[in-house]
Amino acid sequence: MRSMVRASRVGAESSTLAFCVMPKKKLPVIAEPAPGTRAVLCATADFKGPLLQGLGPLKLVCGKCGYVLVRGVNGVEHTNVVLQCPSCRSYNDAAKLLVN
Ligand SMILES: [Zn+2]
Repeated sequence: MRSMVRASRVGAESSTLAFCVMPKKKLPVIAEPAPGTRAVLCATADFKGPLLQGLGPLKLVCGKCGYVLVRGVNGVEHTNVVLQCPSCRSYNDAAKLLVN
């Protein structure tokens, strides 16, 4: 005689979806910095995706259009960095954003 073991529990948890929503922060939009004053991270015209990517819990989005500029940071410490949005080309000030 053969006995069949069924994995009856498989899928029992599937109705409880755990959404992990990454908190996001909008960066302030600034005018184009004067040459040599700030470190500007800009993307080429056909670039897609975040300019910076890490493993942290936070994402930073463009203050004008909401494009995700940085994904997975722990927070922005003091930087001199300006991020140019690949989508709308506006300049986002990452130095003024202090998390914690
Ligand atoms: Zn933008």
